[in-house]
Amino acid sequence: MSASLVHDFDWIARQLPDAPALSWHGGVWTYAQLRRAVGCMQGRLRELPPGARVALLVRNSPHYVASYFGVIAAGCVAVPLNVQERASVLSRQIEHAGCDAVIADPLHQEWGALTAAIGATVPLVVTLDLQPGPAGCDAFCAALTGEAATEPELTLLERQVEAPAMMIYTSGTTSRPKGVLLSNGNLVANARAIAAYLQITPTDKVLCGLPFHFSYGSSVLNSNLISGAQLLLEDNFAFPQQTLKKMQDEGVTGFPGVPSTFALLLGRCQLSDFDLSKLRYLTQAGGSMPRAQIEKLRQQLPHTQVFIMYGQTEATARLSYLAPEHLEAKLGSVGMPLPGVEIEVRSEGKVVATGEIGEICARGPNVMLGYWREPELTSQVLRDGWLHTGDLGHVDSEGFLYIDGRAVEMIKVGAFRVSPQEVEEVLATFPGVQEVAVTGVADEVLGQSIKAVIVLREGAPADLRGIKAHCRQHLASYKVPKIVEFAAALPRTSSGKVQRFKLA
Ligand code: ATP
Repeated sequence: MSASLVHDFDWIARQLPDAPALSWHGGVWTYAQLRRAVGCMQGRLRELPPGARVALLVRNSPHYVASYFGVIAAGCVAVPLNVQERASVLSRQIEHAGCDAVIADPLHQEWGALTAAIGATVPLVVTLDLQPGPAGCDAFCAALTGEAATEPELTLLERQVEAPAMMIYTSGTTSRPKGVLLSNGNLVANARAIAAYLQITPTDKVLCGLPFHFSYGSSVLNSNLISGAQLLLEDNFAFPQQTLKKMQDEGVTGFPGVPSTFALLLGRCQLSDFDLSKLRYLTQAGGSMPRAQIEKLRQQLPHTQVFIMYGQTEATARLSYLAPEHLEAKLGSVGMPLPGVEIEVRSEGKVVATGEIGEICARGPNVMLGYWREPELTSQVLRDGWLHTGDLGHVDSEGFLYIDGRAVEMIKVGAFRVSPQEVEEVLATFPGVQEVAVTGVADEVLGQSIKAVIVLREGAPADLRGIKAHCRQHLASYKVPKIVEFAAALPRTSSGKVQRFKLA
């Protein structure tokens, strides 16, 4: 069977050539312009053998998207890298991935050092000039086509479902980053499923500030651009007032975020001060969001649907989602498996009883091919076609899944096991707490004790006594944090995920 994201994109781009596809820095690329640029990148990479890895060192921009689809259209494997990384890390990843080509924005802070490091090993380096708007598209195509008399058209070649198309390095929340190898079939299956449950249509306008080199951002890109929607690309959400104003002025219909994005918006602004009447849905993924925050979102945006989603890079992005109609009754759940995905909670190889905690295992067309050059690690997590996620969870009597934490992040206080999420849930309900993260620290007597790091809302007092009393009221005594510290921010990966191990 033949399928790829580019086939789906090409189909919609032919239907809607004049529809806006990407807005970036005040300029728009239509679907026809993006399709043209994809064709030019495909042409530029024509000489590369099928399956060649091509590193993408380009920030979120139309140029990234055209390059990414161009790489896949050429039958190669897109390896998006984090433009904020140091040259030493990037050169190691490029070497580890065995890249035959690098597509880069040479404005990278350490471009000189990087080219010096990879010069001898990477045969092809394509540099891009990132200008916004249609002129940027013309420049992109002209630079790739060079002296050729005619521009290459995007051609749809046979693409095997199981052929690798992308490799994403995990963010390294719990361990060193691993290269997750995804096939054409993985990417298509996940993108189509997400587009279906979010009911994405060409009338959608989605504001996206999530980096495309991680699975969440990449899945937002894929699902919207096979559906004819428009993506408005934001560099960051450092100024929440401006973000909300833009959502209001542009009539944004969809907004994906991680828990820290919503904590920032809710901590600094009153969402109901903005006219967000066009905002059809919000999605939250990438980590657990305290229930108190979800409730605040619902109160401040009563007409907006909130989708809570769960997944991991090893599953392309998504495994389950909680449909908005169940949000109230099933607050705290991550919902049901995506169509085509099976989920089982297992302990010692057997499916556990309803309500019991075990490891979340999954099977489906979105489960990765494996970790690049890590056969042993791959065989540990992929067994008999089932992905062992390393996440602990349970399923209720109606089949709704709940995450109880990551196995490696569980805190062992004496004989007890404590989920950091449970303690974070309680702390998040204390007045003035904007964000909190909890971890285990070494304790001579108990093995581990609990430490909480709290970020307060602007002007809120550091009421340590009040916080401890609040914990004693709502938690078993062994779950009350022994150490509580206040900080200006939490340690995060570049995708915005809390790095609990750094709190210790
Ligand atoms: P690594 O530590 O292996 O480098 P990572 O943190 O980069 O991994 P991702 O694939 O980005 O890995 O994150 C997936 C993890 O995020 C899941 O395994 C789960 O622990 C957590 N997660 C994702 N969505 C949710 C959610 N809605 N609720 C709770 N946890 C979630």
